[in-house]
Amino acid sequence: MPANHFTFKPLILAAIQKNGGWVNAHAHVDRAFTINPDSLGMYSNHTLEEKWDLVDAVKKDASETEYYDRFCRAFEVMISNGVNAIGSFVDVDPVCKDRAIKGGLRAREKFKNELSIRFATQTLKGVINKEARYWFDRGAELVDIIGGLPKRDERDFGPGFGAKHMDILLQTAKRQNKLVHVHVDQFNTPMDVETELLCNKTVEHGMQNKVVAIHAISLAAHKKSYRLKIYKKLKAAGIMMIACPMAWIDSPRREDVAPIHNSLTPVDELVSAGITVAIGTDNICDFMVPFCDGDMWQELSVLAAGTRFTNIDELVKIATINGRKVLGL
Ligand SMILES: [Zn+2]
Repeated sequence: MPANHFTFKPLILAAIQKNGGWVNAHAHVDRAFTINPDSLGMYSNHTLEEKWDLVDAVKKDASETEYYDRFCRAFEVMISNGVNAIGSFVDVDPVCKDRAIKGGLRAREKFKNELSIRFATQTLKGVINKEARYWFDRGAELVDIIGGLPKRDERDFGPGFGAKHMDILLQTAKRQNKLVHVHVDQFNTPMDVETELLCNKTVEHGMQNKVVAIHAISLAAHKKSYRLKIYKKLKAAGIMMIACPMAWIDSPRREDVAPIHNSLTPVDELVSAGITVAIGTDNICDFMVPFCDGDMWQELSVLAAGTRFTNIDELVKIATINGRKVLGL
């Protein structure tokens, strides 16, 4: 490379390497690489909420062996991209029952010398429905982290059921002495206040420093005074954050009036407020996120550019040691 040809990528990659390598703090590798040109319409023609059920198409007939193969393929891709630790949600619900997590646990054993792997429950069918709750409880015993999606129950059962969903996650995690990872504020609208609810619930259950919020992109759609209030509450509750840039930069156009912003976790403000932030790919080449193929540099560069975040030292921490923190490694 000529001496006057400078780019940031090699500088940052070298620092990441020095810090032990990439950490992909949030993924759903049980559904990785399940989209193709024939099924791309599943992505483009449906809302996220519709897809919570449409993904049944790649779950209902998948055997434990197929799940095992999906996990192995995704882990190989991660390792080839320089990832040394990954946290993946895994569907454990009435559709796939425990086939995905069983396949995942077998794959983890195979890769145990190359990749630190932590699994969390994905509650795509909620935790209020009786059958869904049965499979959540079954999954909770098998995973390292209690994961959740409160919006599923809020949508199905009405106001207050997102809070009940959080109660069940937090009670389960407290009983089993596990961390909690929760998908919150995903719709890029000031109508979303789930991050604040998670702060309140974390304190109510005495789970300070044990909870991680995932996404919280809607925070950036709120006015500044509200954002600053939430950063204080996050800090007080010891809640950490995971940003998944490629999963949200495609947020659909909305007509809400809100502060102008990119549809990304407001990492610039969170880091300034002293919140630990990590980064993840979220879904990889599936109905939810077709164009993310697990490239961590793509994620980090989108995050840096999309939030005008230029603190290189903090970016390196986001890509490495902060990921280990949120995964409890
Ligand atoms: Zn996710």
